[in-house]
Amino acid sequence: MRSSTWIGTAMTDTVLDRFLRYVVIDTQSNPASPTQPSTIKQMDLGRLLVDELKAIGLADAHLDEHGYVYATIPSNVDKTVPVICFCSHMDTAPDFTGTNVKPQILRDYRGGDIQLVGDETQIIRLSENPALNEQIGNDIVTTDGTTLLGADDKAGIAEIMTAAQILTDNPGIKHGTIKVLFTPDEEIGRGVDKVDLGRLGAEFAYTMDGESAGQIEDETFSADGVEITITGVAIHPGFAKDKMKNAIKIAGAIIERLPRDVAPEATEGRNGFIHPTAVTAAMEKATISLIVRDFEEAGLIAKEQLLETLVEDVIAEYPGSSYTFVVNQQYRNMKVILDRHPQIVENAIEAIRRAGMAPVRGSIRGGTDGSRLSFMGLPCPNIFAGGHAFHSPREWISRQDMEKAVATLVELAKVWEERA
Ligand SMILES: [Zn+2]
Repeated sequence: MRSSTWIGTAMTDTVLDRFLRYVVIDTQSNPASPTQPSTIKQMDLGRLLVDELKAIGLADAHLDEHGYVYATIPSNVDKTVPVICFCSHMDTAPDFTGTNVKPQILRDYRGGDIQLVGDETQIIRLSENPALNEQIGNDIVTTDGTTLLGADDKAGIAEIMTAAQILTDNPGIKHGTIKVLFTPDEEIGRGVDKVDLGRLGAEFAYTMDGESAGQIEDETFSADGVEITITGVAIHPGFAKDKMKNAIKIAGAIIERLPRDVAPEATEGRNGFIHPTAVTAAMEKATISLIVRDFEEAGLIAKEQLLETLVEDVIAEYPGSSYTFVVNQQYRNMKVILDRHPQIVENAIEAIRRAGMAPVRGSIRGGTDGSRLSFMGLPCPNIFAGGHAFHSPREWISRQDMEKAVATLVELAKVWEERA
């Protein structure tokens, strides 16, 4: 669906135009910064978005001191409709530079690899991007190869802005109150630290931060951290026979026995893993930090029991040594919350279908702002935004997929109103 076919939508306000306008603004976040937003430049995009939201007619649009943009699309019906929120993040990942983004548009893609124009070593290969097979005839936006693109998640922002304009300009489209939320610092895991859910006033939300057209993700990993501390028996090496228990060797033995088929490098889909992330060791004391991931709570506990049994077995081979085993909860699968409100995902699936796609439900092998929002009281699955190869100079997105995302948002607003 082309935005230009909607009444009252000027060509400079197409989702592609908006996207190209937003990606050239550098909004990289910085994990080393203690402030929120972590980088003041994220406010540059926030201010532009507030101006544009006001121009669309959303009078209450504002940017707060922590870098969040809030706005309201008022209801245009008398009946009570649940207040929903559309949410995207303004920052780009610290992994690759977002300064001086020079977006390139490849019109009417004919297939094959895409050579980026600013760096001959940067090629978007079809073999690594099978999703390109779905894009024949589409217009593909890439970088010149020297920066990331920032489709993650400025595509989501452009889509929400365009949908807000369509809903405002077309009173014939019936909808309830819809909140718009743009967050800073998602890429450094602080995207919802300072969000004011009272001020937002939404019952349910959707992040627009997924990949391929048609996807909706209602599951994340459940995640724990485990800290194993080993105390050995330290003694002068010259007099150590039958006495020394070297904590470095004990730690090595534990790591060696970690199950190889329950590792990130050996799992995909719905299988979880145990993954050592850091080791510090000396003869008298060693610490192993691990993360444990699974989609099910029971699977998480089983993995932690397996891990502790393994540690006990190793420790038993080094009499006199001892260990502590501490589990810290990190985050939980948002499906637990979303299953209590099945209409959230059902309505999104219906909207994706009405926008002309086959809905695909997926699981995220990680955490999202949506999972944190869900546990903060705002249930929030993740809808596709259309971007691919996130956080790299070979990031790409098609105009047509962004338009499908806009159509999905408009249909979603209508579905909630119809079903209220
Ligand atoms: Zn993102």
